[in-house]
Amino acid sequence: MSSQTGAIVQKSLEALLEDTSFLPDLVGATRNQAFTSLAAILSTPNKVYKSFLRVPLDNGEVVRIPSFRVQHNNALGPYKGGIRFHESVNEEEVINLAALMTLKNALHDVPYGGGKGGVIINPRELSSKELHLVCRKYVQYFSDSIGPDKDIPAPDVGSGEREMDWMMAEYKNIRPGQPYRGSFTGKSIENGGSLGRREATGKGVYFTFRYMLHDFLKEQRAFLANTSNVFAETLLGYEEQPLSVAVQGFGNVGSVAALEAYHCAYLQNKVVSVSDRNVMLYNSEGLDIPSLIQYTSQHHGDLPETEQALDEIGVKATIHKNTDILTMDVDVLILAALEDQIHQGNMEQIKAKILVEGANAPVTGEADHYLNEKGVIIIPDILANAGGVIVSYFEWLQGRETQFYKEEEVFKLLFDKMKATMDSILPQFFGDPYPLRQNCYIHSVMKLSSVLFKQGKLY
Ligand code: GLU
Repeated sequence: MSSQTGAIVQKSLEALLEDTSFLPDLVGATRNQAFTSLAAILSTPNKVYKSFLRVPLDNGEVVRIPSFRVQHNNALGPYKGGIRFHESVNEEEVINLAALMTLKNALHDVPYGGGKGGVIINPRELSSKELHLVCRKYVQYFSDSIGPDKDIPAPDVGSGEREMDWMMAEYKNIRPGQPYRGSFTGKSIENGGSLGRREATGKGVYFTFRYMLHDFLKEQRAFLANTSNVFAETLLGYEEQPLSVAVQGFGNVGSVAALEAYHCAYLQNKVVSVSDRNVMLYNSEGLDIPSLIQYTSQHHGDLPETEQALDEIGVKATIHKNTDILTMDVDVLILAALEDQIHQGNMEQIKAKILVEGANAPVTGEADHYLNEKGVIIIPDILANAGGVIVSYFEWLQGRETQFYKEEEVFKLLFDKMKATMDSILPQFFGDPYPLRQNCYIHSVMKLSSVLFKQGKLY
């Protein structure tokens, strides 16, 4: 799996070069020089740690598992980002994902920098005893670089509460007497996790979309009608319209986003299609998402793949190839699987006019450019999927205060934060010719540049 994130970060920095007026005036240096140091800081990670985790398998064989922790930038606070457990993880990908975390946290005013981890395994192929060892070894090998005020890992693709609990426990063993609750987020409630953390990313993904299509559209109708912006035209086309929604990926993010869409009372949307790694299900009248979620919870996260399985749970749907979801004739496509799903090879067949990036970097640079030209609104990863890291921040705060919030308080704080970001980005987006991703990047980079400048790091 290659990732275009680095190229996109680079491209957006280049676009910023056309207008460096946001950079502060520096004594003895021009804005272009300041830009050059900013670009150097953001296009390279501060640190890349790699290790082979030596893990004895249940059959007695000892394997060496390549693993990474990348610390991209910590100008805004401790490094923060998940640990991905996936067989296609690679160093370049982890670096790019760490850069994305720097931009994501800056965008939403979360006082963290960006980091990311990766372990090259297929967690589905390991026993829980083996996985436990992988987690413990990861902490043993990287314990010097992580910590509650240094670098705070969290779940990502292939890892979850169980892994974070194990890692926190190992961290506690290695650093006795030190504060440990804030060393990992995304933990179980019993181990100091936050209510709502599990659903936070999926809820946030749906919130960004709902906010743009309902609240913002309603409030800013006159403004939108007066701009000649192609994206405003796309948005106005959906005013008061029933919307068909497809969701790629039915894991922690996709299933929650689909459920939010299913229950949303004030947007008339129908989730007509969902997919996972095996299959896509379709029903033009809308799918019964709660029954599908119940089924996946009893079948290792997999959607039903046969007519018989569908009949047994009373869900009406036709069964298709999973990749067909990308080219479905729907209004909204929520991408909640992996990166690089929409690329040069399929971008011309995309029919949805609104894409929401629940996953990190699901659209490649070429496809992004092509779809933007066509007026497709892409709600980018750093805007749409930040719910996870935002509630991770609340978890970290609650751990410090040893005081825990009610679930509704967590969601209120989450939505308020995401709303504040949307309010500062959307009017600009619909008023100028840059795509939403570019607007978000500009916002994040401006924030980072002023902080770096005040820290004396731009010269
Ligand atoms: N892995 C998630 C992300 O990509 C969450 C990170 C976190 O909670 O630190 O945003």
